[in-house]
Amino acid sequence: MSHHRDGTGDRRGLMFVLSSPSGAGKSTLSRMLMEHTSGIRMSVSVTTRPMRPGEVDGQHYHFIDKAKFDVMVRDGELLEHAPVFDNHYGTPRAPVEAALTSGQDVLFDIDWQGTQQLREKARADVVSVFILPPSAADLEKRLHTRAQDSDEVIRGRMSRASHELSHWAEYDYVVVNHELDVAFAEIRTILRAERLKRERRTGLSTFVRALQKQLEA
Ligand code: ADP
Ligand code: 5GP
Repeated sequence: MSHHRDGTGDRRGLMFVLSSPSGAGKSTLSRMLMEHTSGIRMSVSVTTRPMRPGEVDGQHYHFIDKAKFDVMVRDGELLEHAPVFDNHYGTPRAPVEAALTSGQDVLFDIDWQGTQQLREKARADVVSVFILPPSAADLEKRLHTRAQDSDEVIRGRMSRASHELSHWAEYDYVVVNHELDVAFAEIRTILRAERLKRERRTGLSTFVRALQKQLEA
């Protein structure tokens, strides 16, 4: 996939990971990124948790039972997998590998455990961003305005937030989601710059060789 006839735009896709404590704005920012950016697709995870109202099987997740999940783990079909809040989650391997080799980026909404596993398996392909809320009060307000969870569930998410936060330093980038538009601009900037990294640009060596030849002629 190249935007330039000279091959300078050819590249290997990257794995763009967004993680955050629940309610910090990761889903909102992911949605904006998918809407406003080409060349990136969302990884659809498998999960054993029950479907929430409004969720679509195959779009938000592939909803599967624990027996099927265990078979996928056994057969090596998951790139990473982890238990989160009493349920199991995992990333199907095949769609990710197909995307990367065709020069497409893949966006992941996964937790710190999954991010660690991806980094161990494919450090060069992973770009990870941790999203922070501006304050605890803002986080709580956002969990309430999302209006998806009971007060009890929100209390649980707030008390887990501090544990999730403790993994911030394992990420390549940290974005504080104060103003949504500012946070989004930062995330786009990270993606743009990472796409330009020499190591991912598979067309460069051919281009430079041709340039050398022109110079020697
Ligand atoms: P997460 O996916 O991290 O759990 P969401 O993206 O669902 O979080 O965001 C939680 C709530 O906070 C949503 O109602 C969303 O509209 C709101 N929100 C997200 N970012 C901001 C922001 N910068 N300022 C105010 N509200 C925000
Ligand atoms: P939810 O059940 O609210 O959709 O997601 C709960 C948590 O699981 C979120 O922090 C989300 O990032 C994480 N998660 C979703 N899919 C995966 C996955 O495939 N792997 C891992 N490790 N975490 C995931």
